[in-house]
Amino acid sequence: MKISKIFDHKQVVFSLEVFPPKKNSSYTTVYNTLLQMRELPVDFISVTYGAGGSAAQRDKTIEIASLIIETYRIESVAHLTCVTSDEADVLAALESARAKGIQNVFALRGDIPADGERKYAFRHASDLVRFIRDHDSEINISGACYPEKHPEAPSLRADIENLKYKIDSGVSHLITQLFFDNDKFYAFRDLAAAAGIDVPIEAGIMPITTKTQLERVVKLSGAAVPDRLTRIHERYRDDPEAFFDAGIAFATDQIIDLVSRGVRGVHLYTMNSVETAKRIARNIGSILRAENK
Ligand code: FAD
Repeated sequence: MKISKIFDHKQVVFSLEVFPPKKNSSYTTVYNTLLQMRELPVDFISVTYGAGGSAAQRDKTIEIASLIIETYRIESVAHLTCVTSDEADVLAALESARAKGIQNVFALRGDIPADGERKYAFRHASDLVRFIRDHDSEINISGACYPEKHPEAPSLRADIENLKYKIDSGVSHLITQLFFDNDKFYAFRDLAAAAGIDVPIEAGIMPITTKTQLERVVKLSGAAVPDRLTRIHERYRDDPEAFFDAGIAFATDQIIDLVSRGVRGVHLYTMNSVETAKRIARNIGSILRAENK
């Protein structure tokens, strides 16, 4: 089913993100992860596209997205980046996705490779979106957005103008970069609405469950960290179990606040942790049921 249709039927959508096996590692671990996630009340699972964007990475993403549909009967979204692709690469990805029954892609530019090895067929995600739309009128296209602005954008307003163009190019649903301060999301949502962006925006939530994770994630995303989160983590940094519980509790609070203020979806960055996905799903299960009655 197309993701846009899921939003037509549900008030609050719940989805998970997984990543394919890294270089040379086998599929067994991610298959076991998915096997255990299939019991959760999820509306779709998205599969990331390895940075670097080789054909082998594309095949892994499509393979796993297809398995999610075929074996677990859960809708899936295949991520696709374009910064290292040309038109032929994207056409090959689309053909492969179609052949495997995938109806949803997540169109991304991708991070500019540090070694400068990029292609220039698509400069922005919106170029990829237009290209996909021109070559496949059926496939559903989702895209990324950044409540605290994309690091390269000169301002949040400029970023939102570019986002509007991406929506007008054919994106029907957005997932945000992770954030920890809900007020940043609400301010972004208001600005997006004022700019005429009316597609459903899912909040990307990453529970911080290990002590090395926070530093790494903040460095990558630039997300602001509320004092409350810093305090929790400092207090439990030497107790992995308490740290995990505190991280899950913080993310649960964040989600309940978002849902109570009308968010259309929650996308969990699981980092392939079944325990994280299960704990959050258990904590918010009754809330999702109440919202979707
Ligand atoms: P764009 O939408 O192209 O935006 C990038 C920058 O260009 C922004 O600053 C924007 O304001 C600017 N811009 C856009 N259009 C224009 C224009 N017309 N003129 C001038 N400036 C413009 N990376 C991966 O490698 N694999 C993944 O699977 C993956 N999944 C992700 C999932 C989510 C939910 C998110 C939030 C990010 C994901 N990323 C992934 C990271 C993403 O690839 C990077 O953040 C990348 O730097 C930007 O990609 P984008 O699609 O948002 O780019």
